[in-house]
Amino acid sequence: MLFSTPLSDLFRLTPQQGSALQKIGLQTVGELLYHFPLRYGESASGKFIRDLTSGEQATIFGKVTSLKTSKSFRGRMPMAEGFIEDDTSRVKVIWLHQPYIAKLIQPDSLVKVSGKVTDRNGVLAFLNPEIESIGVLPVNIGKSLFGEGAPTVGVPVYSETKGITSRWFFHALQRIFKTKEFQDMVSNEATDTDPIPSAIRERYKLPNLATALVWMHAPQKDSDAEVARKRFAFEEVFFIQLKNQQTRALQAKEKSFIIDKPAASVGVSNFIERLGFPLTEAQQKSVEDILADFAKGQPMSRLLEGDVGSGKTAVAAVTSYAAVTTRPKGRVAGTLQVGYMAPTEILARQHFESFIKLFRHMPISIGLITGNGCRKFPSKINPNGWTDISRSQFLKWVANGEIAVVIGTHALIQKSVKFKDLAYVIIDEQHRFGTAQRQKLARKHDVTPHLLSMTATPIPRTLALTLYGDLDLSILDQMPAGRKKVLTEIAGTIGQREKAYDRMRLELAAGRQCYVICPRIDEPDPDKEQSILAKSVKEEAKRLKKDVFKDSRIDILHSKMKPAEKEATMERFAKHEIDILVATSVVEVGVNVPNANVILIEGGERFGLSQLHQLRGRVIRGTHQPYCFVATESKSDKTVERLKALVTAKNGFELSELDLQMRGAGELYVGKQWGISDVAMEAIKNLKMVEAARKEAQTLIANDPTLLKPENSLLAHILKTREENHFE
Ligand code: ADP
Ligand code: MG
Repeated sequence: MLFSTPLSDLFRLTPQQGSALQKIGLQTVGELLYHFPLRYGESASGKFIRDLTSGEQATIFGKVTSLKTSKSFRGRMPMAEGFIEDDTSRVKVIWLHQPYIAKLIQPDSLVKVSGKVTDRNGVLAFLNPEIESIGVLPVNIGKSLFGEGAPTVGVPVYSETKGITSRWFFHALQRIFKTKEFQDMVSNEATDTDPIPSAIRERYKLPNLATALVWMHAPQKDSDAEVARKRFAFEEVFFIQLKNQQTRALQAKEKSFIIDKPAASVGVSNFIERLGFPLTEAQQKSVEDILADFAKGQPMSRLLEGDVGSGKTAVAAVTSYAAVTTRPKGRVAGTLQVGYMAPTEILARQHFESFIKLFRHMPISIGLITGNGCRKFPSKINPNGWTDISRSQFLKWVANGEIAVVIGTHALIQKSVKFKDLAYVIIDEQHRFGTAQRQKLARKHDVTPHLLSMTATPIPRTLALTLYGDLDLSILDQMPAGRKKVLTEIAGTIGQREKAYDRMRLELAAGRQCYVICPRIDEPDPDKEQSILAKSVKEEAKRLKKDVFKDSRIDILHSKMKPAEKEATMERFAKHEIDILVATSVVEVGVNVPNANVILIEGGERFGLSQLHQLRGRVIRGTHQPYCFVATESKSDKTVERLKALVTAKNGFELSELDLQMRGAGELYVGKQWGISDVAMEAIKNLKMVEAARKEAQTLIANDPTLLKPENSLLAHILKTREENHFE
């Protein structure tokens, strides 16, 4: 079978190429075929270096060699110099005063260089030209390099590693395309092994697999590549949906605890009354959804999505109430149990404390388990407070059902934690946990508990339909009444940043605290020209201390710190031992420090709108008017325009939709975070396509939930292979 043939059987690979291919996960012909171009290079015209003349404005394409920093003639002026070479000749390039360019461009990389050609003592040179890394040489110049079969609309550009260039990809793929086996697939003469069943292909006019592969890798017209991408986008979303629909169908067959406490019942409404605030309509609706699911006898799988501060904890508490006031079937004492998992120790502790406040009037115990030990409420000695208890005692009380609500971090999913009647699992900030971790808590019991996943990361509807196709969705799109809106300003100039500092000074003087967010942790990354401009946490903290906020206590927080260090720093910030916390976006999720009411985000153009929105959420918890300043180095109108949506958008969902439409699909960080390919992210922009893929998957699974029918054996096989690759 062609697709499973190892590449080393088909091509003579140097050891370097072999290991480079292994590194990017390309071992078989199939994997190579599914390694799609990142983009198509321009076919803009350039000149051969041999044909350059002094005084002209020219563009050339070639390879960089001997690029280095040096000093000019009198040794004063720092500069970068080197050569560009193509098949015809080579030419000198010089950048005065810009020695860093030598560090930005990798030796041997392919570049496009434009500028004026000057004669320097009889040698032609480009002086301070524009330079840009490109994936491959453009067609009209590189024709001699690409040879016959070269695409005519644009050259496919792949992500490359040492020894494996875009040109290598091109030739390797041409070889595969020419094999008889492949040709038979193109002409539909081979047995149909297309992952998309032919009926579905026909319904949506999608090309067959082999044709789409040729169109993807060597398009002869623009529409070729477009149609091919559409097909592969459909394919990926279709398989994600197939998996989700299957999970859902299997779940529907499982048994769960029946909790019969309608939202309108006296107990539930009394509990709601005790919260001290009326639920928002959205909260009320979510509570009703959940309590209705509880009564069905099948396990609930529901996602609760809502902005930071929208009140997810209250929904969790009210529904937990229903569980812990229900007696397990056939028993005369005890209650059903709730497991509530949070991503960090601080969050777990916060939930523990709020649950104590909400449930202290009831005869139930609440436990906390983290890597640092266990606690139980109420304490035998002090019925109004909690006490530290030993782990073994804790585990015993969870196992015999004595502790009704168990709150914890990852510690909660350890094997040793066994429940008596775990009926309801709540996972806070669920995107912080892997799928496997999430399922662990829900799946370790004979009777499947109800599952509520909560997230403050609003995602576009199409993405939710795709990623969470196996979950039902409840959305908190309303903020509790009387909440102060974060005053947001886009600070594009230095004067505006001063304004942010003025505000910070005022608030610091009044005893408040501030966040400053930077896109990077430390020194510039030499590979990325861009990063030179972006502020780093370490540098910025030093600068602020030295020049701007001399009298404030400043500390830093970033992802390279150890988890314990991070938690300790957050703890000190929460205790107000730190005035200004300079951090990367790690503060995005997590802790509630009500006294912090100003956030200044540097390099705003580097974040997605929904990510900025998340960051801004850090300051809305307090009673003081919150402020958010988004600073950007970018002068581009488009950037400022994009950022202004932060001021005008109603909620996080609106911003996530804007992110999806405005940024390049591949840039959308959620895609990467979820392991969705760039191609599929394009589908996510298209509601019709996502719905079509979902509908087809639903129909298939409705007829054959386990995909055991012979006509579905290929689908079952592909699904299994995909899973193995995803969850290794
Ligand atoms: P999140 O959705 O970010 O987890 P929380 O559940 O922590 O939000 O709620 C944020 C704050 O809002 C808490 O102090 C909570 O008591 C309060 N709150 C929640 N719901 C309401 C409501 N309906 N009216 C007023 N305050 C509310
Ligand atoms: Mg929360």
